[in-house]
Amino acid sequence: MNLESMNRQAETEFTLAPSIRRHLKLAGAFELVGGVGAPVGFVCYHRFATADFRPGPLEAIEFLALFLLGVMVPRMIFRFLVGAKCPAPDCRGRAFPKGANPVIYVCKSCKRSFPTEPPEQEDGCLTRPPDSTRSGPHKSTH
Ligand SMILES: [Zn+2]
Repeated sequence: MNLESMNRQAETEFTLAPSIRRHLKLAGAFELVGGVGAPVGFVCYHRFATADFRPGPLEAIEFLALFLLGVMVPRMIFRFLVGAKCPAPDCRGRAFPKGANPVIYVCKSCKRSFPTEPPEQEDGCLTRPPDSTRSGPHKSTH
């Protein structure tokens, strides 16, 4: 009971939209499958194609290239083609990840952005409070 409420409290500090979380998980899974699958498939292909397969420096480069391709291709597909469902309740658009570290999902329809990581704490204080009551001195009234 206590533990549950503590968890909930921690979650309220920063929540990642379920659709974005799912998209991140799926993209990560495909990157893993591609990163492992492409080089392993390459080795298997050589093993079956040539009876006497001896990995040399060229194969090592190919192996590395396939690993990178296996990771990058799914990442690009998820980044530019798939996208996550926009977490905004009144929007049916798709949010695509932008940038890196942290990745921010930006919706194509409503242009809202959804960071995947909590905002960085700078100088010990969180993001500036958006209180409109504190009007600037430059605000002139006629
Ligand atoms: Zn949207």
